[in-house]
Amino acid sequence: MTALAENRQAQTPVDGDWVHVDGLSVRVRASARRKRFALTVEPDATLTLHVPQGRPRAESEDFVRAHRDWLVVKLGQRERTRPLNPAKRLVDGEVFRYLGRTYRLAVSDDAPGDGWVRLVAGRLVMARNQAEDPAAGRTALVDWYCRAGRAWAGGRLQPWAARMAVAEPELDVRDLGQKWGAYQPGDGGSGQGRMSLGWPLFQLPMHLVDYVIAHELAHVKVSGHRADFWRLVRLALPEYEERRAELDELGRRMWMGEIC
Ligand SMILES: [Zn+2]
Repeated sequence: MTALAENRQAQTPVDGDWVHVDGLSVRVRASARRKRFALTVEPDATLTLHVPQGRPRAESEDFVRAHRDWLVVKLGQRERTRPLNPAKRLVDGEVFRYLGRTYRLAVSDDAPGDGWVRLVAGRLVMARNQAEDPAAGRTALVDWYCRAGRAWAGGRLQPWAARMAVAEPELDVRDLGQKWGAYQPGDGGSGQGRMSLGWPLFQLPMHLVDYVIAHELAHVKVSGHRADFWRLVRLALPEYEERRAELDELGRRMWMGEIC
């Protein structure tokens, strides 16, 4: 190590530096506004140490060392919940899921020219010109999930709303990013609320879609996720905790729209 490097190493760590402690490597975020040290585990399982500007390196190292056990537990959790969403190819035989069952893609030369994917005799049929254009093919598949999911969930809403004694909201199925569902209250008074379900949800088995529907319907009565919310969900669905865990586990393996 050169004298200069030695000197740098001895200095107070600056933004973008690394601190290495007992086999852990932590990237430094230094800020003049910060008063205390803090550690975060990022979604990609890298570690960040938030450092008040100007504090000696030894203090950073001590802080990481003091929280090493906590970091190891958090890193393990991050690894177990890391998204494993696959990418799909738009080729004959590629597998897509709908309500827990698998369907193979059939690329067709004589599909109707309306741009719609259709479920025909157990196969998802897509026109060849769409399969050869990833953006168009993806749009057509997402549209199909939206239409099929909307029709299916539309039939589930009334019985669940009746069971839970809540007003039946309007329903749409669309892209909600990483979320499975959302509920938007009406504008007070007579305004009807709106439930939105994310199209990737409809890849999952019916009992998990039902869980999301019951969850969002509980939001008609209670916003937020405090104890009274979960009490309402449990009344409608006593085994909701198992379903929620299954949704977390299966959900991270679902296709979220990436084409390769
Ligand atoms: Zn919720």
